[in-house]
Amino acid sequence: MARRNNLLFTLRIIFLVVVGILLLADIYLFCFNSYINSDTYLSAHLIPLPVDDVPPTVTINGGDDINVALGTTFEDDGVTAYDDRTDVTVDINGEVDTNTVGEYSIEYIVTDEHGNSTTVTRKVNVLEPTGVIYLTFDDGPGAYTSALLDVLAKHNVKATFFVTCAGSDDMVVREYDEGHSVALHTCSHNYSSIYSSPDAYFEDLAAVQNRVKNLTGYTSKLIRFPGGSSNTISTRYDGGSRIMSYLAREVENRGFTYFDWNVTSGDAAGVTTPEGVYERVVNALKPGGSSVVLQHDIKGYSVDAVENIILFGKEHGYIFAKLDASSFTAHHGVNN
Ligand SMILES: [Zn+2]
Repeated sequence: MARRNNLLFTLRIIFLVVVGILLLADIYLFCFNSYINSDTYLSAHLIPLPVDDVPPTVTINGGDDINVALGTTFEDDGVTAYDDRTDVTVDINGEVDTNTVGEYSIEYIVTDEHGNSTTVTRKVNVLEPTGVIYLTFDDGPGAYTSALLDVLAKHNVKATFFVTCAGSDDMVVREYDEGHSVALHTCSHNYSSIYSSPDAYFEDLAAVQNRVKNLTGYTSKLIRFPGGSSNTISTRYDGGSRIMSYLAREVENRGFTYFDWNVTSGDAAGVTTPEGVYERVVNALKPGGSSVVLQHDIKGYSVDAVENIILFGKEHGYIFAKLDASSFTAHHGVNN
């Protein structure tokens, strides 16, 4: 009987030792394999891997139902996919002919390494637009630029920023990185100095051009005169030289393109609510043509109107674009 107890005791000791070894091995494997991945860790224990039947999650970048104007280019922003276990591959089916009005769809099939797949579809409408809206924002970056960029990204709208030397460098970089047009509005925006002489103007313009260049690598040649080309405030500082008549020609001689606007939001002239800005803008849009909208991203109430302006525009068949050197310039008459 005592022998039998001894045997049981010995077996118990052996069992505990084995368990102890397994436990230590487990800690070792965990430490070692945490450098590899969870699948390796599990297979090292000879435990069958749970079946992976979870497909990747996929979101469409830039919206699942978008309008593209006839004759422009369609830029596919693709999808963002996540899988809990493996890498994924993305297959894309479908094409968009932006030279033919119609409804197109693009299918994105995202498959993980265990064969689970998720398919999402983007509808792309190529349409003859009601008109083109160029949203433009002067005098920034400022306190509201970040929120504005968020709204533009949410609706996949590209805009134009006529920047100064004010505000955060990071915002200028964001504007550029997120595909907007970074244009120039002078560095100081100080009427009394910039309109005192052509040299003073061009020196100030070069300063903001360099700011953008240093931050983004991009040399912008798109400009807007503070006060617009039609301003008469320059008469106070130019000593009677009719500086705007000279500058309007000279900037073009130097390879710049200047833009005014044909839709004003009033956000720098008495309109001080998002509702007021919205009303002014949507009532002044140009069906069948180009609308260059003037707003200021240093005015919170103006930035707060942007989302509704975008929704109105999209709902009424407008497309949104950023300004480039070949865009409609909305020139005013020069008055000085
Ligand atoms: Zn300005």
